[in-house]
Amino acid sequence: MRRKFRWLFAALTLLSLAGVLLLGLSFRQFYKRELVPWLEPGQSLWSWRLEGLQRAPLALYDDWSSGNSDQRRKKVIALTFDDGPYPLYTPLLLETLKHYKVKATFFVVGIHIREFPSLARQIVRDGHEIANHTNRHRRERDLTQAELRDEILGCEQAVQEITGQRPRLFRPAGGFLSSEGIQTVQNLGYTMCNATINPGDWWQRDPDLLIRFSYRGRSREGVTLMHSGALGIVRALPGYINALRAKGFEFVTVSELARQIGKPIPELPKRTHIPAPSEGDPHRELGNPVPETGDEYAP
Ligand SMILES: [Zn+2]
Repeated sequence: MRRKFRWLFAALTLLSLAGVLLLGLSFRQFYKRELVPWLEPGQSLWSWRLEGLQRAPLALYDDWSSGNSDQRRKKVIALTFDDGPYPLYTPLLLETLKHYKVKATFFVVGIHIREFPSLARQIVRDGHEIANHTNRHRRERDLTQAELRDEILGCEQAVQEITGQRPRLFRPAGGFLSSEGIQTVQNLGYTMCNATINPGDWWQRDPDLLIRFSYRGRSREGVTLMHSGALGIVRALPGYINALRAKGFEFVTVSELARQIGKPIPELPKRTHIPAPSEGDPHRELGNPVPETGDEYAP
């Protein structure tokens, strides 16, 4: 009898050990899958406990409640190119996208598409999404709400006249809008689209660094901010596409991304990572990368 108990005890101990091991392994798996992509380069797993612990249950809940785990598993990314079209770089970008069979989203500026209408038509013809980035790239801080409205409608009119399409997505010049500005945008029937990944391509010329910065803060979906007139991204794009494909990402337009993840675009998590300016930099307090002097391609 006592012998029997001993066996039972041993079996139970083994079972619980296996259970603990299984739990540990699955948590490790979850930790790697869900949390590591949030780490900054060089940041160790252990230096990053609090935020990780806060996010873990939310991410688990997200998985359980999403209902369609296959769709949830799919890794999708929307490349967005702002400010163009420009005569030299935009055709190179379009060629690269065509070669790699990638559909992207172009946030165009009204006066630029009036200047280069054939490029605007090519964007649409190649199957990319065309979206509104104001008429003259004016920032909200320099405008009244009525002027902001005119900026949006000016771009819309140009896109419609030249491509026959009515843009439905809007990204403000400079990337920021007040709550009043957001209201103005929504009143015109637009959906705001911010980027979740900002590699700083309008000032960073090194393709390797651009690719590295573009990895940061990545989960299973993202909207990458790039520019139609930045040489760095022209050079980085093939490597960037290959690197992300190797990580299992598919490239989609912003509207397609919102459809696939089943969330409207304004609810996309904002995970912008801007490379930190160096010590002693006058722009440091702004928390922004430093555009080169005279660089006209700042977002
Ligand atoms: Zn811009």
